[in-house]
Amino acid sequence: MRILIVEDERSLREALVDLLTGRGFAVDAVADGLVGVERGTSGDVDLVLLDLALPRLDGVEACRRMRMARPALPILILTARGSEEDRVKGLQAGADDYLTKPFGSAELLARIDALRRRAAIAPSDAERVEIDGCVLDLGRCLAHRNGDALPLTAREVGILRWLHRHRARAVPRTELLQMIWGAPANAIDEIETRTVDMTIANLRQKIEREPAEPRIIVTVKGVGYAWGEQ
Ligand code: CA
Repeated sequence: MRILIVEDERSLREALVDLLTGRGFAVDAVADGLVGVERGTSGDVDLVLLDLALPRLDGVEACRRMRMARPALPILILTARGSEEDRVKGLQAGADDYLTKPFGSAELLARIDALRRRAAIAPSDAERVEIDGCVLDLGRCLAHRNGDALPLTAREVGILRWLHRHRARAVPRTELLQMIWGAPANAIDEIETRTVDMTIANLRQKIEREPAEPRIIVTVKGVGYAWGEQ
């Protein structure tokens, strides 16, 4: 397993190299976005740790280019505290997950492990997903359960795709509002987050075997929602 580190801050880059080589990973480390894209798209990299503020090519654009070239490459963004807008841009550009600096080594290793397991199980852009006896045909906006084909709205498909893609973690309601509804980060209030709950409740009625005990979309108390299986 080869991990590419794209980080211009030398001390952090070196600390990451030490940590990951110590854990038995093969590691490449580069200090700018352009070289990062060259290495990340070359084919022998299995996972990327990507800083956002980078010289020559910023992390968001680097992420977009790597994602275009390699749709299933796991990309974990390393972002400075307080730069929520950047984090959102990174996710929109196709990153799988993010970690806020400063982070502990245990948390980083856990995220890497989750992304590895995910990548091993299924391609990240699955259009047809089977879970708990329900077949979700996302490309055709249909859910098949018990021989019935139930139509899904574009928004419902967006939610399912987003939760599935980010199934290594719980997704906050505010993130769904930003990503699926396109709401600006500074204009999200209590009423709007309830919109998410109502939409998910309707979706559960369609796809869950037993909406009272959901197993496809689970509620994560105090956070939001998560895909039922990792
Ligand atoms: Ca930086």
